[in-house]
Amino acid sequence: MGRNDSRFPADFIRQIVAEDIKTNKWGGRVVTRFPPEPNGFLHIGHAKSICLNFGIAAENKGGLCNLRFDDTNPSKEEAEYIESIIEDVRWLGFDWQERLFFASDYFEQMYDYAVQLIKAGKAYVCDLTAEEIREYRGTLTSPGKNSPYRSRSAAENLDLFERMRAGEFPDGSRTLRAKIDMTSPNLNMRDPVMYRILHATHPRTGDKWCIYPTYDWAHGLEDSIEGITHSICTLEFDNHRPLYDWFLDRLGIHHPQQIEFARLNLTYTVMSKRKLLQLVREGLVNGWDDPRLPTICGLRRRGYSPASIRNFCRRIGVNKFNSTVDMALLEHCVREDLNRTSPRVMAVLRPLKLVIDNYPQDKVEELEAINNPEDTDAGTRKVPFSRELYIEREDFMEEPVKKFYRLAPGREVRLRYAYFVKCTNVVKDKSGKVIELHCTYDPATRGGDAPDGRKVKATLHWVSAAHSLGAEVRLYDHLFTKKNPDDVEEGGDFKSNLNPNSLEVLSSCRVEPSLGDAKPGSRYQFERLGYFCTDHDSSETKLIFNRTVSLRDPWAKIQKKQIS
Ligand code: ATP
Ligand code: MG
Repeated sequence: MGRNDSRFPADFIRQIVAEDIKTNKWGGRVVTRFPPEPNGFLHIGHAKSICLNFGIAAENKGGLCNLRFDDTNPSKEEAEYIESIIEDVRWLGFDWQERLFFASDYFEQMYDYAVQLIKAGKAYVCDLTAEEIREYRGTLTSPGKNSPYRSRSAAENLDLFERMRAGEFPDGSRTLRAKIDMTSPNLNMRDPVMYRILHATHPRTGDKWCIYPTYDWAHGLEDSIEGITHSICTLEFDNHRPLYDWFLDRLGIHHPQQIEFARLNLTYTVMSKRKLLQLVREGLVNGWDDPRLPTICGLRRRGYSPASIRNFCRRIGVNKFNSTVDMALLEHCVREDLNRTSPRVMAVLRPLKLVIDNYPQDKVEELEAINNPEDTDAGTRKVPFSRELYIEREDFMEEPVKKFYRLAPGREVRLRYAYFVKCTNVVKDKSGKVIELHCTYDPATRGGDAPDGRKVKATLHWVSAAHSLGAEVRLYDHLFTKKNPDDVEEGGDFKSNLNPNSLEVLSSCRVEPSLGDAKPGSRYQFERLGYFCTDHDSSETKLIFNRTVSLRDPWAKIQKKQIS
């Protein structure tokens, strides 16, 4: 689908960019950036921002999108996060060429800008503690009051700021603040902190600095230094914009246009890095790439393709109102993509032995199976068929209920690509559990149709007992039981809504032999069961598959209902 696809009209940001090109506002340039803070792994919300920023750059002639790490806070940032973010953005299909930047590379420049503001009487060194600063700030309904240090001379401020940098003062003892307006109705304008003292080792600058810029001071400068034209961010920065404007205008430097859009929220999951970190640290999931998490690496391990995520981001669009997208839409997008691209195979998750009494003992037939009915180029493969097979336990009912058309005593069904079989006998263990079925087959139905025209109501998938391979299959459900995991009793915690059944491990599954060399990351449709992805821990000696999504599509139903 191209960007001009009529189903996806240009969003308000793309309209602004188009207008700016028309009016030659930036000399025809379009420069965007994706600016993650390396304090966690990327999630599907970040994918929305990535698709937007890289997408707009790609859609416009000469457009550029930078990848920039906003690494201004050494206490929470780690190199591990940087590597994973690079991998994830690349995997999603985007390229920043040589424009990989780090905010920490601008520390010297930012320092110089701060000096410029001090000299102009626009910034001062303040000795209030963090708590005092909070007290002095006032509230939404009451004005703040001036710091007693606000009237220091530029010379004194300059001297103190230099000494802050030189490491003369302990952590938290002083800050550099912008001198704006302690009575402003916008709390962000009440003399915000620009620098704090923090004797911490930075992953990139080491011990060179012991003062670090705050996000509000640094972020606009980073965009300005890189010549960003459209600085796209999420809605909560709307009331920071006047502050960024103030900094850039006082400094008289390049001033990008900030545009805010609504962040993505999804049902049945959490997106805040703080909460994701909590789930990982407390072992409530199996690492950042747990397939139940909305992280990009989790979705990748689950079997999501980059195209399915990009499509999802295109479909949800971009707007100014916070809302929550139904997880079913994300799942719909991955089904749509995998339906077109993934080879079909047969696998049995909960095996029940089926013996065909009238099939020769040692005979093996190689039956032809279609790899992908959606893709004629995908061809066919051979699947071995023999006297002893496994079928899905739930495809048999000793006493079939109404509308159960699958196998039952005396009933005939079709085995996919093979024959009609009829159940003649049921073997049980001492406890009464069915452990084996006996059937007869009709050799005339080879390929799946009866020459006499008789019909069966069900087609079952199967594997040959002797030829199939053992496998572990992991089935996933929503990580939380509530649409909104934050919907908790007073004093409660989002973790109380964790779904205890979000992971089910089936360890005695059987898969057709063609899966013997399934490479980690490869995706399949297990016929009738869903889409599955070979786990990265899978090997030829232990096959492991993750279910990406079932075949059933609740989203399609939701849409049908809305149309009718
Ligand atoms: P947190 O507040 O949980 O730390 P963040 O949003 O600050 O996360 P960043 O690493 O700073 O995380 O985000 C990088 C970019 O991704 C930002 O431009 C941010 O606006 C965007 N982004 C983050 N979360 C979402 C989301 N849920 N939907 C859309 N964009 C998002
Ligand atoms: Mg952030």
